[in-house]
Amino acid sequence: MALLDVRNLSIDIETAQGKIRVIDKASLSIVDGSIHGLIGESGSGKTLIAKAILGLHASNWTVTADRLFLGQTDLTKLSPRDRRKILGKEISTIFQEPSTYLDPSQKIRVQIESVLPKKSWKQYCRGLLKKLGYSNVPSSRRLQIKELLHKVGIQNHVSVLNSYPHQLSEGMCQKVMIAMAIANNPRLIIADEPTTAMEAVTQSQIFRLLYKLNQLNNTTLLILSNNFAHTSKISDYMTLIYCGQTVESGSYKHIIEAAMHPYTQAMLKTIMYDGKEHGHKQEIYILPGNIPSSNQLPIGCRLGPRCPRAQRICVKNPTITTKKGHSYRCHYPIKLS
Ligand code: SF4
Repeated sequence: MALLDVRNLSIDIETAQGKIRVIDKASLSIVDGSIHGLIGESGSGKTLIAKAILGLHASNWTVTADRLFLGQTDLTKLSPRDRRKILGKEISTIFQEPSTYLDPSQKIRVQIESVLPKKSWKQYCRGLLKKLGYSNVPSSRRLQIKELLHKVGIQNHVSVLNSYPHQLSEGMCQKVMIAMAIANNPRLIIADEPTTAMEAVTQSQIFRLLYKLNQLNNTTLLILSNNFAHTSKISDYMTLIYCGQTVESGSYKHIIEAAMHPYTQAMLKTIMYDGKEHGHKQEIYILPGNIPSSNQLPIGCRLGPRCPRAQRICVKNPTITTKKGHSYRCHYPIKLS
């Protein structure tokens, strides 16, 4: 069952040069309890889609969608206030460059405490007993914070809790962000480029941690990434996005073994060669050209100018074809030709 169902989401942005359609009928269906990778080059519109789902639009945006549901809730029908409530309780986010999202003037302990659910009756009684002079009453809030940090692989919790963000590495800050994201047991975590600007070892650690969270707590994860190799390794489902258009979507097996779209195939070629991963000093395939800027978007299929299979009909926007849960948007899909 889909926990998050987004159909034909479009975002138009009013600019000095006129209205620009930055996201063009993007669709996403996130299965409850799964890891879903939304993969595309930088500037392809992944973050814009996440912001539209979260309701964090700028005033010059016009967002339209045929369907935008979280479970049974139609997000388009909620007031901004109710949308914010959902944001804090049911959807959590993890951002790239975590140190810039943590408050530099507050210790980690204070920042984690601020996102914990409000005190329960039991916690209130414990506090009261302490006030009455019973010194050996353990603070369940402290235990909660310790458990959260241990869950994300931080063993030296005392020193981390007493640190300011600038005293920690980027990888450690990201672990703290993940601990804060899971504090309220959200139904969905959106991780936006969670390993950008990190070393390779730290990147693998963060991806392993996200995978473990999904396996142990059944937390649904939407990972926005330009790293096809890392993201595909842990994803149950993937959606490829190019220049604001979702081009292919399906299970891991569909994408890796039966990719239909030239863009997906190009992504696969960057990590694979004849079914194997690239060897030492082997030439890496690169799609010719660059992603166009948002004020110079090609008409029809936006991959057209870079696509090795493009033909005249590609100036018409291809529609989405779906077969057995595998969707693609292309006039000349690979497997069918
Ligand atoms: S529709 Fe045409 S240009 Fe677009 S990906 Fe398919 S073949 Fe290439």
